[in-house]
Amino acid sequence: MNILFVYAHPEPKSLNGSLKNFSVKRLEDAGHAVQVSDLYAMQWKASLDADDSTDRRPDARFDPVLDSKHAFENGRQSEDIVLEQDKLRWADALILQFPLWWFSMPAILKGWVERVYAYGFGYGVGEHSDARWGDRYGEGTLAGKRAMLIVTAGGWESHYGPRGINGPMDDVLFPIQHGILYYPGFEVLPPFVTYRTDRIDEAGFTRICGELGQRLDDLWKTAPIPFLPQNAGAYDIPALTLRPDIAPDQLGFAAHIA
Ligand code: FAD
Repeated sequence: MNILFVYAHPEPKSLNGSLKNFSVKRLEDAGHAVQVSDLYAMQWKASLDADDSTDRRPDARFDPVLDSKHAFENGRQSEDIVLEQDKLRWADALILQFPLWWFSMPAILKGWVERVYAYGFGYGVGEHSDARWGDRYGEGTLAGKRAMLIVTAGGWESHYGPRGINGPMDDVLFPIQHGILYYPGFEVLPPFVTYRTDRIDEAGFTRICGELGQRLDDLWKTAPIPFLPQNAGAYDIPALTLRPDIAPDQLGFAAHIA
């Protein structure tokens, strides 16, 4: 299988760097082909702006949506974006690996998503009408592929528990797992989260690698998070609200998981 790692940590000798090296070796030893987009090493341009299209008139008003659509449809995207889109098409599985920074991904990785998920690729896919609201949330360009997060967090596991002060980790990661991964079609596996990173010693690192190695071995066997697909009857369209008989007692993020 083909696996794309999109990795965001500025220091190769960090815990994240070590876990990334471990993961790549584990997957390659199992016979998979792995590509790594090491965003800091690539000096990835994080900001989406007018320079992302190759044929803009300098005086034209920049429209982030329409410029992206035009560039994608007409082969006018900047080369770094095209290369990442090709890697995504090549991949059977995507792994996003990052330290949790301010309850989300580092800005450089958010910028990868913003720029690589062009209109017509990451969004704006399929029929958009009152009867059908595009191919997304379970359908889309990346349908049939798997995705998983590898995340490290300074906070304790209890801080991210059901009543923990930071909110449950499933909720913290919902915008990434549901909004960034499920939206363009990925099947999203449960995340691999390492907590309390400042307490990790050699023994802790060995334990984490054991658990992570197992998750990587099971990449094709692990059941995805059962997010509800948009176009299979659970949602009223075009309101895109759960039908009253679906999870009637659930509100918020949890309601969108079967
Ligand atoms: P490192 O600092 O590189 O390493 C952590 C520990 O692992 C160290 O003790 C190190 O000795 C050990 N280690 C590293 N490599 C090895 C190895 N090969 N073998 C054995 N031990 C090793 N945390 C939250 O929970 N929520 C937040 O919202 C949040 N926001 C943050 C925002 C910013 C801007 C920053 C800088 C930090 C934030 N943090 C937050 C903390 C952050 O999540 C952790 O600092 C990060 O996850 C640690 O990962 P690292 O790769 O940088 O670890």
